[in-house]
Amino acid sequence: MSLDLRIAEALALLRRAASEFQPVALASSLGAEDMVLTDLVFRNELPVTVFTLDTGRLPEQTQRLIARVREYYGRSIRVYFPEAQAVERFVAEHGVNGFYQGITERKACCAIRKVAPLARALSGHKAWITGLRRDQSPTRAALAAQSWDSEHGLTKFSPLADWSREDVWTYLRANHVPYNALHDQGYASIGCSPCTRAIEPGEDERAGRWWWEHPETKECGLHLSAPTETEGAA
Ligand code: SF4
Repeated sequence: MSLDLRIAEALALLRRAASEFQPVALASSLGAEDMVLTDLVFRNELPVTVFTLDTGRLPEQTQRLIARVREYYGRSIRVYFPEAQAVERFVAEHGVNGFYQGITERKACCAIRKVAPLARALSGHKAWITGLRRDQSPTRAALAAQSWDSEHGLTKFSPLADWSREDVWTYLRANHVPYNALHDQGYASIGCSPCTRAIEPGEDERAGRWWWEHPETKECGLHLSAPTETEGAA
């Protein structure tokens, strides 16, 4: 399938989500895929809220991109923060970098800084949109373009499910979309600063996330539900 056709299909899915699933929100990590979707939403003036989760440990480059998006599109990304007291309790118990101690501590940190704020951001919405792609990692191989997210109780759209990394970058460059400067330093997938690093050529795209864990465990808890395919993405 040509990229033009993939773009047309992604836009059609976004339009349908915006017309049939109000209120609907795009969860952006400010990564390359989310910038494609943000560009499609803002450029086409779709009634979709774009939000991100500021975990308190985001790289400076990601913060700069949030500001740049506001300047470039004249529309803001809504920012949600974790509950301060929950972060304080975690740090008091495990230390400021306690997430390195083991998967239990790592998941506890993600639960406080990402999962709980996500639940708050999605509350009251009928659907959410993500920039997940099937070929990003083993945990995403069965991803559907539209599925029921039983974890959060709403429909989940992944309009780029069948896009390749090359499709994403062709789109970004052709449309002059702002992107995270860390991508130019070898970062494929960008999350919190202490849990993200650059990858080597040929490595799995999410190899730089929680690199000390097994590939099968590498999700932050935002995308847990088994996909129930209601619409093919091919
Ligand atoms: S990615 Fe790392 S710092 Fe960020 S919430 Fe998860 S464990 Fe905490």
